[in-house]
Amino acid sequence: MEVMTLGEEVLRQKAQPVSEIDDGIRELVREMFVTMAEKDGVGLAAPQVGKSIRLFVAKADDDVERTFINPQIIATSQETCGYEEGCLSIPKSWENVTRPERVTVQALNERGRRFTLEADGLLARVIQHEYDHLEGILFIDRIDPAKKAKIEERFQKTAAKKEA
Ligand SMILES: [Zn+2]
Repeated sequence: MEVMTLGEEVLRQKAQPVSEIDDGIRELVREMFVTMAEKDGVGLAAPQVGKSIRLFVAKADDDVERTFINPQIIATSQETCGYEEGCLSIPKSWENVTRPERVTVQALNERGRRFTLEADGLLARVIQHEYDHLEGILFIDRIDPAKKAKIEERFQKTAAKKEA
């Protein structure tokens, strides 16, 4: 699947809830795991592949593959930590982002079963980053505005080159 990059409108839209978890959704999930693995990602949200729906997948290091459909973050820890984040939609940029250390998320899996997960470490990080995508938020929105402007400028140039 093609991964949308910074500047694409779909990355800035608030995604819509998934109304029915059918074979089409399960196929999308499978393709997203393949795309994520090909690109060495640890998470991928549906808007990144052009689908404005509330679904993301994650595989944080040695963890299992996890699918989150219509997720809700129901608790976050007061303790925060920093981590160098990147994004498949913003290639070649990594910046330190501060977020809560632990989160509790509730979601449906690809079989439509509801689950609650308490996550810490990299998985907590990935869940928050991918959840942001469903809200049209990118990690560069959470960094120093001057650094964000520089990254955006770089992508405008890339887009202009593509059009020329
Ligand atoms: Zn991302």
